[in-house]
Amino acid sequence: MAHTHDDHHHERPRDLTRNQDLVLSTLNEAHEPLSAYDILDRLREDGLRAPLQVYRALDKLIEQGLAHRLESLNAFVCCADVGCHRARGSAAFAICSGCGRVDEFADDEVNARLAGWAAEHGFALERTTIELRGRCAECRKSQSGSPLR
Ligand SMILES: [Zn+2]
Ligand SMILES: [Zn+2]
Repeated sequence: MAHTHDDHHHERPRDLTRNQDLVLSTLNEAHEPLSAYDILDRLREDGLRAPLQVYRALDKLIEQGLAHRLESLNAFVCCADVGCHRARGSAAFAICSGCGRVDEFADDEVNARLAGWAAEHGFALERTTIELRGRCAECRKSQSGSPLR
């Protein structure tokens, strides 16, 4: 089941610091992944000055499963699926190279296979991030000469 960032609303956790709350709101409002510097730019008026303030807030949000780091982009998104994928410990992202939209989803079968591999090899799995790169359905539709199949 796929969730988009647009149609999802989070229950706002109560134990966030002001900076964490600001960073989470910024990610929530963004329609594309943001780098730490993008986030800092948007929060200058709120008094954030140093990248370290943003990185500290991001670390905490990621630890709590409220945000994710997209390794291939070195950018951050808010979690589109708080609570339901956290228990599974794994998240997958389809990243469109056309419009930059990111769809987060989790797939039980993939997760089970990866957890199975880890168990077989004695690997203590901490987190799994799967990133799919390509073009979303909207971008493919608007691209002339490449019919959606
Ligand atoms: Zn998530
Ligand atoms: Zn797209």
